[in-house]
Amino acid sequence: MSKADYYEVLGVAREASDQELKSAYRKLALQYHPDRNPGNHAAEEKFREASEAYQVLSDADKRAAYDRFGHAGVSGGGPGGFGGFSGAVDLGDIFGDLFGEMFNMGGQQRSGRQLRGDDLRFDLAIDFEEAIFGTEKEIKIRRLEACETCKATGSVSGRGPSVCPQCHGRGQIRYQQGFFSVARTCSTCGGRGSIISDPCQICRGETRLTKEIKLTVKVPPGVEEGTRIRYTGEGDVGRGGAQSGDLYVVLSIRRHDFFEREGQNLHCVIPISFPQAALGAEIEIPGVDGTVMLKIPEGTQSGKELRIRGKGVPYLNEKGRGDLIVKVVVQIPKKLSRAQRELIAELGNSMTVENKPTSPGLLDKMKDLFS
Ligand SMILES: [Zn+2]
Ligand SMILES: [Zn+2]
Repeated sequence: MSKADYYEVLGVAREASDQELKSAYRKLALQYHPDRNPGNHAAEEKFREASEAYQVLSDADKRAAYDRFGHAGVSGGGPGGFGGFSGAVDLGDIFGDLFGEMFNMGGQQRSGRQLRGDDLRFDLAIDFEEAIFGTEKEIKIRRLEACETCKATGSVSGRGPSVCPQCHGRGQIRYQQGFFSVARTCSTCGGRGSIISDPCQICRGETRLTKEIKLTVKVPPGVEEGTRIRYTGEGDVGRGGAQSGDLYVVLSIRRHDFFEREGQNLHCVIPISFPQAALGAEIEIPGVDGTVMLKIPEGTQSGKELRIRGKGVPYLNEKGRGDLIVKVVVQIPKKLSRAQRELIAELGNSMTVENKPTSPGLLDKMKDLFS
């Protein structure tokens, strides 16, 4: 059976640099690592292939031999068939902290290297006007804070943790499985690489405690649905006093009774009478911050959008505001007095509209409709 080309296995060019080899292997190993694909033999085989290819190509001498002689150049050794191999690839060297993340994904203990506190998310609903003009809101969040009793050391004596005797601080136990070495979280220290012999009674050696705190969120004018406000260092505190995570406040905006928002512009619909549309008028309408004057030009068609500049939403972190766009709809009265009926009939006699079909949309453009 012919073996796959090592460069093809890793998906790199023959002249790939060491760095390219490393990142290609890293990607494959992350994808096919047995810990991520339990019981998947195809994945295990791919992992083995990639590890073998990387082990050869990452060694300058072996790579040169492979380039010259192919598989024969590196596998011509003893009965094992892989005499060229000196040992397993040390995944720890390749993955560094990423390895800790892999173990984290299953909800297992974090590796000793990961000390930074988690980022937190808080969903905040605000009113339509608050999004436009900004607001301040007090929120309550639950987060991990440093234990004051042990001053975040986790131990009664304040000595803090000592190196785990089982894994010698690595947080992982490595063992050989075929050609590669596999790491498992150390059970003695739970992957932290350290243990506390006299744990603090209050935080049980965790160095942190969950507390509810109050924060004032400043919402700037002009925010949009889904805007994230980041508060650096306001997430969970890190272990043993390490860096805190961040807090993200994610905004959602409640609907308004009649205004709709489109970016920095506001839209609304205003009913007007036929005389106002035909003769033109200046009317007062409610804006989002007080009344505004709307000028209806003579001969305005129903459905026409009129723009009032600068009465929309302020630009975020910028001067100026968007526009208020008012769609005017001519209302046809449903109930008429006798006198009104006669007036309109008289008007009707003096007006002609050609009742001819026209394509939709063209109506707006037609002039002299009511001439
Ligand atoms: Zn350990
Ligand atoms: Zn404590």
